[in-house]
Amino acid sequence: MCGIVGYIGTRDAYPILMKGLARLEYRGYDSAGVVLLSDHTFNLYKKAGKVSELDAFTKGKNTSGTIGIGHTRWATHGVPNDTNAHPHLSNSGKLALIHNGIIENYATLKEQLTKKGYHFKSETDTEVLVNFIEEVKIQGNLNLEDAIRTALNEIIGAYAIVVMDIDNPDVLIAARKGSPLVVGIGKNEFFVASDASPIIEYTKNVVYLDDKEYAVLHRNGDFTIHTLGNVQMTPFVQELQMDLEAIEKGGFDHFMLKEIYEQPRALVDSIRGRVNAEDGWIKLGGVEEYLNRILKANRYIITACGTSYHAGLLGEYLIEDLSRIPVEVEFASEFRYRNPIIYNDDVVLAISQSGETADTLAAIEIAKERQALVYGICNVIGSSIARATHAGSYTHAGPEIGVASTKAFSTQVVLLILWALQIAEKKGSISTSYLRRILFELESIPKKIEEILKQNDAIREIAYKFHNAENFLYLGRGYNYPVAMEGALKLKEISYIHAEGYPAAEMKHGPIALIDEQMPVVVLATNESAREKIVSNIQEVKARKGQIIAVINEGDEEIRAMADYAIEIPSTEEILTPLLTVVPLQLLSYHIAVMRGANVDQPRNLAKSVTVE
Ligand code: GLU
Repeated sequence: MCGIVGYIGTRDAYPILMKGLARLEYRGYDSAGVVLLSDHTFNLYKKAGKVSELDAFTKGKNTSGTIGIGHTRWATHGVPNDTNAHPHLSNSGKLALIHNGIIENYATLKEQLTKKGYHFKSETDTEVLVNFIEEVKIQGNLNLEDAIRTALNEIIGAYAIVVMDIDNPDVLIAARKGSPLVVGIGKNEFFVASDASPIIEYTKNVVYLDDKEYAVLHRNGDFTIHTLGNVQMTPFVQELQMDLEAIEKGGFDHFMLKEIYEQPRALVDSIRGRVNAEDGWIKLGGVEEYLNRILKANRYIITACGTSYHAGLLGEYLIEDLSRIPVEVEFASEFRYRNPIIYNDDVVLAISQSGETADTLAAIEIAKERQALVYGICNVIGSSIARATHAGSYTHAGPEIGVASTKAFSTQVVLLILWALQIAEKKGSISTSYLRRILFELESIPKKIEEILKQNDAIREIAYKFHNAENFLYLGRGYNYPVAMEGALKLKEISYIHAEGYPAAEMKHGPIALIDEQMPVVVLATNESAREKIVSNIQEVKARKGQIIAVINEGDEEIRAMADYAIEIPSTEEILTPLLTVVPLQLLSYHIAVMRGANVDQPRNLAKSVTVE
């Protein structure tokens, strides 16, 4: 997590760094800092809090310089305060460094450096790294590049770093292992950042650094890329597909609301070119390529974290239901550490919005070591997971900046639906007429989401009734059970209300004890196949005076009459209902969080891209 940005060129670096940090703030936002180099002096400013507080703090101070680096932090080592904020300087004051990630052997290095007389102002692992580079540089009498490479070869852990040297004002060095880093190439200027958002308005030409690579960027426009093994690489310069509008709020109060409203468009983009309902075919690029292996697999394993894990649960229901292949779904953080059984004919699906999720990446490595085929589903083009997997599909949701995932979830679900259908079609476990019916219906889902979005005002009123609640329960059955889990996660992460998602029938094995007149219970009551069971679950809640907010199929007057509040969704095929039922839950959480005064786009303690374990 954390956002890093650097600039070297002919313009004033400060405004570029600050704008870049504001765009990267979704990645970490407990403290921020910049350092600029001019007249052989580092001007360093660091502040706990938001980027805007740093900006206020630097007013009237010297922010000149055409080379600089900036950081917005998500603390791992040391509390968020001014001192622990990045950039960090070496003891001589000659090197400045920003870092995203964790240096796992920092304690040993710190001890060695302390014995040699180094002092540390902060509690961070990062300050150890900058001093270690300095020590290697001095001891080996090395230039900056050689010192960085030599030092990084001793580092255990994950990092994206950018380094400045007071004695080398015409060079910026950036390196990565396990955390993302992209270099923007302008005319006699370079940008470096955690993602492309700080770069996009200056240049569309970028190079994504690979793991264990570093770039040396010179003010005269020359640059080189080497591996940490000192092999020079030929840079692969790509053109950014993103535009500026995609990363701005476009009239919405929050990115989260904008992204909820973007779902109809995002779904169209994720389906486009992959489906032909008329002729009844589906083509997911990566699946085609490995079709034999995928069809021969005895089971699939889905691994993911957070919201992507909930999409994964839906994947299990879809694939087992349609393709009749056994599926296991596991949190990547558990999978990677529990010595899982993986056969070389298994297929592992890894799901992550950012494509940088550290635990998911590690799970992928284990699966690859054991010779399973690994298929990635992620949103960010060129991300680590996209590159680490054998094959995969992008969700094409567009940049998701709100920390709480919305459109990334629904597009992940779309891809899992397509996956399940494509395999089922190839295996012959579904009929062509059923496939065509589902595909036609899938194409109508974006319009149906638009219908749900029109109920925003009514959902806001329901939110108003319950925004002071302390607990929420979400219940669903079948395809709606993972959606209930996702609804609960959405509420807790942005409003800080305790919420739990449960399979509706499990309620009586425990959670029912919580129900009283204070407890709002959101019931996803759209499954035709379990209708009577859901009705019974609603009655059980009512009998204990719980407040029912029901998500129902349009025209379902029977359940509407039982519920205290009802939100209608247009009717659809049952396997597609999650794409609709999740939308009111996103809006409900959003409005409750706004009413409670929470920072919707940047909830406390969280960050968007979880690049630490
Ligand atoms: N480990 C570093 C720190 O705690 C960097 C964390 C980050 O990625 O923001 O300061």
